[in-house]
Amino acid sequence: MTCTRMGNWIVCHGREYEVGEMPPKGYNDWFEWAEVQRKAGLRSVSCGVCGKCKWPQELSGETIKTEYRKTKHGPVFIVEKPMCIECQDRRKE
Ligand SMILES: [Zn+2]
Repeated sequence: MTCTRMGNWIVCHGREYEVGEMPPKGYNDWFEWAEVQRKAGLRSVSCGVCGKCKWPQELSGETIKTEYRKTKHGPVFIVEKPMCIECQDRRKE
């Protein structure tokens, strides 16, 4: 465990996260982890299937084409969106 003194507070971290590693399960751990990824220049994108924000290491590399309309009766655009590993696994079952 590493502890850092911040003013009157001592903040302890479970451990240091690496860039590109898979996200931890815990909520607080996740924020710490996401901060490391963000600082390294990684950006999350939304999965085309579940719509959740996913980081590059959580994407399957597969994409899904979805239809998208700007307005209710407007033209249909086909957008290619990334698919996360979880959704890819779910589709295999
Ligand atoms: Zn997904």
